[in-house]
Amino acid sequence: MLANVLLVEDEKSIVTLIKYNLEKEGFKVFCSETGEDALKIIKEKIPDLVILDWMLPDTSGIDVCRQIKIDKKLKNIPVLILTAKGEPDDKIKGLEVGADDYVTKPFNNKELLLRVKSLIKRSKPSLLEDLGIFKDLKIDRITKKVFRENKEIKLGPIEYKLLDFLIKSPQRVYSREQLLNNVWGENINVESRTVDVHIRRLRKAINIDKKNDLIRTVRSSGYSLDS
Ligand code: CA
Repeated sequence: MLANVLLVEDEKSIVTLIKYNLEKEGFKVFCSETGEDALKIIKEKIPDLVILDWMLPDTSGIDVCRQIKIDKKLKNIPVLILTAKGEPDDKIKGLEVGADDYVTKPFNNKELLLRVKSLIKRSKPSLLEDLGIFKDLKIDRITKKVFRENKEIKLGPIEYKLLDFLIKSPQRVYSREQLLNNVWGENINVESRTVDVHIRRLRKAINIDKKNDLIRTVRSSGYSLDS
């Protein structure tokens, strides 16, 4: 299961930007332009996170946040407030009504994403563990499906396990021995050359259409997921 995020924002360009960036990371994004509509969606869908703009056409994000946080069924949904104002007073006001975090416009995409992830990690840790992402490569551990640029890739069971392991720590180089222990299991008698065979298959499968090679071979050391 992927995390559902409700984005409450009336500025179209910001909606497009945030939606694009979150969807790229595998989140499902619902959008709403007004506070009234947002509360309706929140009650209906119970999203895993709400990104709430401070200034909405019909009400303020603070008001919507207050209504979320006084509702027993909704109060555990993390709320991240977006605001164009950066005065410390506003921040205090937001935190007083129970907002869980706060980002000031204009914001850095990476930072917003980090905040979103850390809020979801805190409230529903399993949601992020179900998904492994590196660049445009995605592994969905619930359905056991692998995607590159949203196109599904078929992998054999060992290649799937290899990728599942490597994607947990991208850029970290693992020796053949470490890969054998973690993917095949410690007591299994397999030659280290077997690792090379399966890495070759994995590399061939994920590097579709001669795209960037996402597996790095480090001579006399081993392999890592890298670009
Ligand atoms: Ca606004």
